[in-house]
Amino acid sequence: MSDPNRILQGIPASPGIVVGRAQVVTEAAQVSTRLLYSERDVAEEQERFRQAVEQIEAELTRLKNEISEDLKEHVHILELHLVILRDRMLYAETLRLIQEENLNAERALNQAYVKVKELFQRIGDKHIRGRIADVEMVYQRLMGRLTGKDSDKPFSFKEPAIIVARDLSPAETTQMSNVQVLGFITERGGKTSHTAIIAHSLEIPAVVGLDHATLEIKTGDLIILDGITGVVILDPDDSLRRIYQARRADFEIFKSEVVLGSAMVAVTSDGLPTRVMANIEMPEEVALAFKYGADGVGLYRTEFLYLRQRHLPTEEELFQDYKQVVAALAPRVVTIRTLDIGGDKFLSPLEYAPEMNPALGLRAIRFCLKEPKIFRTQLKAILRASAFGQVRIMFPLISSPREMQDGRKLLELVKKELKKDKVPFDAELPVGAMIEVPAAVTLADLLTRYADFFSIGTNDLIQYALAIDRVNQQVADMYQPLHPAVLRMVREVVQAGRQAGISVAMCGEMAGDPLYIPVLLGLGVEEFSMNPMAIPVVKRVIRMTSLERAKEVAQKALLLHTVEEVNDYVTREMDRLFPDIFRFGRPLANKLAK
Ligand code: PEP
Ligand code: MG
Repeated sequence: MSDPNRILQGIPASPGIVVGRAQVVTEAAQVSTRLLYSERDVAEEQERFRQAVEQIEAELTRLKNEISEDLKEHVHILELHLVILRDRMLYAETLRLIQEENLNAERALNQAYVKVKELFQRIGDKHIRGRIADVEMVYQRLMGRLTGKDSDKPFSFKEPAIIVARDLSPAETTQMSNVQVLGFITERGGKTSHTAIIAHSLEIPAVVGLDHATLEIKTGDLIILDGITGVVILDPDDSLRRIYQARRADFEIFKSEVVLGSAMVAVTSDGLPTRVMANIEMPEEVALAFKYGADGVGLYRTEFLYLRQRHLPTEEELFQDYKQVVAALAPRVVTIRTLDIGGDKFLSPLEYAPEMNPALGLRAIRFCLKEPKIFRTQLKAILRASAFGQVRIMFPLISSPREMQDGRKLLELVKKELKKDKVPFDAELPVGAMIEVPAAVTLADLLTRYADFFSIGTNDLIQYALAIDRVNQQVADMYQPLHPAVLRMVREVVQAGRQAGISVAMCGEMAGDPLYIPVLLGLGVEEFSMNPMAIPVVKRVIRMTSLERAKEVAQKALLLHTVEEVNDYVTREMDRLFPDIFRFGRPLANKLAK
């Protein structure tokens, strides 16, 4: 046995504390080292590959149909894997390589996968880049099947245990339940990995990105898993166990208090009502918005339907999708953001044409205005859905009044067509601008004439204002929401909105981090939109904050010169004002940066 109280540090991925025995899940697939095919014939190799695909397809379909109620909203992950299995660049390319390059199935698959991976790595859009992990999981599963090193048996343990694995695929995690699983520890993955997302839904603590976990931890080891701080303690002694049991109890009390207040509107302690809304990407997430007490949807990202299938979505498909969300949330507001995607091909994420600087390329409103047919189809679907509830529309990446004018012009054309065809829609539907480019901040006063509301997209605004690639790990530490330049920009946009009498919301990740809420309130932001899971804690912070105090904090922060000073000041202030939120609340809000 190793020394007691050995501490390992990973990334906190789902909050909660648990003490229990480990169950190490052995690795599924190993890439075959068989390089060149020699003995078998091409047809046989191709057939072996096709059969592997079909078997996995059947397994995923079965899992999809049997998925438990708790995880219903995650069915799309399995659906995405089904699409990837048959994607041209993986499926057809593997068959082609077997045929033309005389490779065995494993080697062909490996080559096809490497090409896809390289392509993805050149894409700037984080949603698409985030799919690399999905392609890899499909690849691993296929490889496991081809090499005979996988097992399709569901996990079963005699006693509930803390699962330790190199990585877990959604197919694996969705088979587990919180009856069997006390917690998850994985070597791979970040806050947005499937393990993190699913652990959150099941309310199971998780630590990911823990290097060598499967080597350090053995099945049967007693461990403490702290999903709040990302700490894992091997072989804890009695006194440490008692400390963590007490911490666990504190956390559970805090969590239940937070959840209790989530259904009510968040009003500051001196009476300012705010709106705390959800960011969603697909209809399945409406359930999460309700569960966590969203006052509406402040950002409905609409890329998913364009990415999950091989053809462009039809107006009817889009309409059904939007209508489902709008009707379910009525009379709450649903803010639908028009397509924020780049490149000239996107029939599948794997067919994306790479650009030198995709973040500065043909994306978002620029793309839509260049492809009016695609844009009009979406606008029509949104307008039709507006007859079923309260819809707002917003255009992403606005950098000039001209783009608002052009976007609105197209919207008017589509309205005319609908009127002519006597199709009902909300004629007063508000049209907003996302403020996420520095040019839009500078022109905010002018843009108020073309927009009915603003929503500040800090994910992009920080990237463009500080010239820090939001998905580049090398500069991740310089991606600083409290940078004085960012604070001044927020102030400028809010002031422009106030003067013109239009509302200013914030829907980037910054809006969902409890640490920033008092500063943002003090700067005048009154509507926040975020990952649904962050809502309860943010509402609690708002309720405990007075606007007067928030203004003082913001004023003081605006006087500081460096981001380090602002960070220090705000962190100290939060720690003083809300010790429990600081200790538990940030991890609980757990920004699942999307
Ligand atoms: C943003 O940029 O802040 C935003 C909300 O949009 P996305 O993250 O989808 O680019
Ligand atoms: Mg953006």
